[in-house]
Formats: sequence, structure tokens, C-alpha cells
Amino acid sequence: MSMSYDDLLKRLRKGLGPSVAKSVDQRVELPSPITYWQGRKTIFKNFMDYPRIMRREPGKILMYLAKELATAASMDGERAIFIGRRDKQSFAVILNRYMNERVLCPICGRPDTHIEKVKRLQFIICEACGARSPVRS
Ligand SMILES: [Zn+2]
Repeated sequence: MSMSYDDLLKRLRKGLGPSVAKSVDQRVELPSPITYWQGRKTIFKNFMDYPRIMRREPGKILMYLAKELATAASMDGERAIFIGRRDKQSFAVILNRYMNERVLCPICGRPDTHIEKVKRLQFIICEACGARSPVRS
């Protein structure tokens, strides 16, 4: 016996190494929305961070937010302006939902995806694992 129990453990751990490394969480963390009220409007100061992180058109994300909040919205440079006073938490919840529905690959959970339209259907195409999943909404 040239191999001790300790050596065996070391070997086993080494063997497990790469697969453990692969399962390291690759999910992107969304930043917290920075919002404030100005009169009857809500200014979403870091709005443009989201289209950049999600690699989606700003207009699409804006429309989604406006629809979910049942209000009108417009873009103003890096900011977005919403009619009515909305709280930060609502934006965070809706953006997380958008991320889960339309950005993250349902198979591998990575954000390296794009949307492909086939007739009226939309698919999330994953550039990491190649999966093609219908958009749930
Ligand atoms: Zn994938």
C-alpha cells in the first residue's frame, strides 16, 4: 500500500475539482434600482444599467416596466421617467421577473442569451449551452 487514506482523499478532491468549479454560480447580480420622486413622477436614475447587463434593447425593458406598472414611461439619457410615484421595490421585482423570463437560460441559468422570433413565438437562445427555450409569459 503506497497510498494513504489522506492521499486518497486528496486525489478524490482533486478529481472533483473541475466539476465543482464548473458549478460555481455564474448568475449575474442585478444592481438595486436607484429611484426618487420628483413631483408626481418617478425618476429611475440607473435605468440604463439594466439593458447593458441584460443585453436587451432599452426600449423593450422600458415598455415592460411601464406595462407592469400600468403607467407611461420615457427615457432621458441614462435615466427613465415614470408617471406616478412608484417605489424602488416594484422596479426590482419587475426587473428580476424580466431577467428570469427573458434573459436567463432556463436550462443552464446563464445570461448569455438572445431572443429569436419565429412567427409569433419567441425563444431564448442560449449562447452558452445552445438551448432554445420558449419565452414564458
Ligand atoms: Zn444555456
